[in-house]
Amino acid sequence: MTGSIIPNLKTKSVWFLTGSQDLYGAETLRQVAEQSQEVAASLGAANTIPVTVEWKPVLKSSDAIRRAMIEANSDDSVIGVITWMHTFSPSKMWIHGLGVLSKPLLHLHTQANVALPWDEIDFDFMNLNQAAHGDREHGYILSRMNLARKTVVGHVSNPAVVTQVANWARAAAGWDAAQNLKLARFGDNMRYVAVTEGDKTEAEIRFGVQVNTWGVNELVEAVDAATESAIDDLVDEYLTSYDVVPELLKDGARHQSLRDGAAIELGLRSFLEGGGFGAFTTSFEDLGSLKQLPGLAVQRLMADGYGFGAEGDWKTAILVRVANVMGAGLPGGASLMEDYTYHLTPGQEKILGAHMLEVSPSLTTARPSLQIHPLGIGGKDDPVRLVFTADSGPAVVVALSDMRDRFRLVANVVDNVPLDAPMPRLPVGHAVWKPQPDFATSAAAWLTAGAAHHTVMSTAVGVDVFRDWAEMAGAELLVIDEHTTLREFHKEVRWNAAYFRLAQGL
Ligand code: MN
Repeated sequence: MTGSIIPNLKTKSVWFLTGSQDLYGAETLRQVAEQSQEVAASLGAANTIPVTVEWKPVLKSSDAIRRAMIEANSDDSVIGVITWMHTFSPSKMWIHGLGVLSKPLLHLHTQANVALPWDEIDFDFMNLNQAAHGDREHGYILSRMNLARKTVVGHVSNPAVVTQVANWARAAAGWDAAQNLKLARFGDNMRYVAVTEGDKTEAEIRFGVQVNTWGVNELVEAVDAATESAIDDLVDEYLTSYDVVPELLKDGARHQSLRDGAAIELGLRSFLEGGGFGAFTTSFEDLGSLKQLPGLAVQRLMADGYGFGAEGDWKTAILVRVANVMGAGLPGGASLMEDYTYHLTPGQEKILGAHMLEVSPSLTTARPSLQIHPLGIGGKDDPVRLVFTADSGPAVVVALSDMRDRFRLVANVVDNVPLDAPMPRLPVGHAVWKPQPDFATSAAAWLTAGAAHHTVMSTAVGVDVFRDWAEMAGAELLVIDEHTTLREFHKEVRWNAAYFRLAQGL
């Protein structure tokens, strides 16, 4: 089954806009056009930049700038714009255009040349290559208009510059995904739980995501509509893709449970595809007549790029979808994760993360095992599930909390590590990690921030991409990484409370 909804990011464009004015004459403007095309082409050719970089004619007037921004807004394939003032482009010319721009902005502060041509430099060169102050004029108007943007400094031959542009482009793709995301909830949030609640209207205003609820019986109807031949085909795919335990094989005693799991996957897929949904939630307290809590199906859908949150957690489902898009084409993946239990041996502290069933196999490059075991929660038949350990390596876990007056993102940079010993009696997908800067600081900061127990774990993109995404959303982001100290973190939380309330105005 080819059900991936992770987009090919080359189908998305960022526009490269170069600012100038008519003051310099035709020859200078010709060189501005030529050199800015070279800069744009250099970015477009960088294999770490996942999107198409599209050069646009040099902008020299207020009206042309406004038209360019309106066109960028109205073209669904455009996910952001890059601006560079190769010469001096008076910033009052940019007020109307920037005022209507509704897509993410990157201000690239660069130059055509690397080295100063010491023995040849004359004033014609100075007039052509004056981004050093042209971009300062641009920065002024961006700041004066209080516009969110990413500022990147340096020559495009510098890999650090390309990396920053690539991270921003991935964040812009994630922002585009959120703006176009329809999220289906089956059932409500888990009863009495606070942190999975939130303001769904505000989520659409802030992130663009449409969050709505459907009765689980509509999902049950889609599951019941799965045909025997479609179930046969999907079971064959399971047998090809996973190490299936003997009892689930075609001649096994519990093969029917695998067929029931396949029907749930077929029903979920058809419901989600039919409604154009990119994310969903389930609730073990509201399964209707589904035979099992969806485990295998949810795991495979996350690996295909869908967002998912358990127990009605639509906020985490948004993050899983966004992380799946931001990581498109990269090794690793994104998954619902939950801090479950600790290894507290001093100096070796680790966090064991898992969920009842729903961890994405995109976190492993190993071949998962497909198993069936009892599940005390939910009161249904034993669910089928994929069992694996997430690959070792760098990762980030990110949570989204609704603090009533704003959404708060909290990200912890972590390192997934190998198990100290096999866990033969824990048959669920799981990850074990060491949080930065250390266990006690990480956990104390997490609790101080009121961050959720559900997260997205991404092994494909790091915290820098989430930072750019948070900037695009105008959302609060607290980062816990190698530089975090509790004393500074406490202050940041307190200052942020003041800042975000002031920034919202009355
Ligand atoms: Mn949970």
